[in-house]
Amino acid sequence: MSRALERARQAAQSGEVPVGALVVRDGAIVGAGCNGTEGDQDPTAHAEMIAIRQAAEAIGSRRLQDTALYVTLEPCAMCAGAIVLARIPRLFFGACDPKAGACGTLRDVVRDRRLNHTCEVVGGVLESECAGLLREFFSDLRSERSAVRRGARVVEGGGLENRCGLKGHRGFESHPLRHLER
Ligand SMILES: [Zn+2]
Repeated sequence: MSRALERARQAAQSGEVPVGALVVRDGAIVGAGCNGTEGDQDPTAHAEMIAIRQAAEAIGSRRLQDTALYVTLEPCAMCAGAIVLARIPRLFFGACDPKAGACGTLRDVVRDRRLNHTCEVVGGVLESECAGLLREFFSDLRSERSAVRRGARVVEGGGLENRCGLKGHRGFESHPLRHLER
């Protein structure tokens, strides 16, 4: 996950919402990506999609069996769908996404037993680092905006701890990542 965080930091340096993802197979990274929706003006350029595409190309198969996906933020419905289609067996994610999380928070696409593939999920891996990076990014963004709109009120949420959807669906209204949008 620390390697995925490096990717997320790269995204932040380019002015993108800091999310990074890796696909690992037999201990080797076969796909890596960071969020690029702004730079590419591509709504599908999420870190997971880029990492999955790269891994499929590297392995030479659309089936990514025997791999694990590491991503700093809980995947959205699109990425969760891609995880199912790619038959990725294991997902590790950092921060929960109260606005779009589709791996346990708002919905659970990857563990929906009606689908022909389900994925083992471990959330909250290096959660404070992953969430902290996002919080810092949005805090800087808000500071820039409030410098422009003087007098604008910035309402800070509390900590992320115990607000994760995996630990109970509550507190999203005051979740610090509630404005998250890639
Ligand atoms: Zn996504």
